[in-house]
Amino acid sequence: MSIFISAGEEDFREKLDLAKRFSVGLELLHFTSYENLYNRKKINGLVRETRDVPVVIHAPYEVVSFSTDRIVRKFVMANCERALKIARMFRARRAIFHAGYYSSKSKGHDEKFTKGALNFFSGLRGPPEIAVENVREDINLMKVILSPGKKLCLDIGHANLYTNQAVPDWIREFGKRMTHAHLHNNDGTEDSHRISGYMDLISIAKMLKCDMSLEVFDPIHDIERLLPDILDAKKGQHNQSE
Ligand SMILES: [Zn+2]
Repeated sequence: MSIFISAGEEDFREKLDLAKRFSVGLELLHFTSYENLYNRKKINGLVRETRDVPVVIHAPYEVVSFSTDRIVRKFVMANCERALKIARMFRARRAIFHAGYYSSKSKGHDEKFTKGALNFFSGLRGPPEIAVENVREDINLMKVILSPGKKLCLDIGHANLYTNQAVPDWIREFGKRMTHAHLHNNDGTEDSHRISGYMDLISIAKMLKCDMSLEVFDPIHDIERLLPDILDAKKGQHNQSE
């Protein structure tokens, strides 16, 4: 199991430097925007710069997995397939997709979501391994939409903010189907992606038996201070050569 640091456009260089110094991987957030999926120059540059670092790709944030409009579904699927192609160019360990749920009081909304999302993710095929991440979904919704072959990326911060279900409950429910985790904190009021908050990130890191990305946007020196504790927590489990 390996540790990754999430890095986007603004903090890529300092996080690449940090990843190299601590021998951890990078989860690239560049392709969360549709625009970057087609920026050949940017893709080639990033592939070159990350060639010595294990990589995970975060696919576009906006995944309307359950649209009833055929044209929208086709458009979203084409872009998600493009994200998978890019992940192969990076020889990425996996690509992570948001499940795409939002709540609505309209009749039959949740049924429409689960049916549409299940169909959508069944049609999306790797390599690399595909993980579906919870944003506003609870355990039950994620269990329904994780079609055979799809794994869970448990986002700890989102689970804390949007559900009443604690991390041990998620771990118990998904077991080996949990392949990745996003580690970040909040105080339950906003999706702040911080180190500090209600949860103890170190004890959660100890509990998890899968790869994980530190998905925090605190100043780089705070992340640098936290990393040795995370690596310590994973000692004996941590193995970059897996
Ligand atoms: Zn996340």
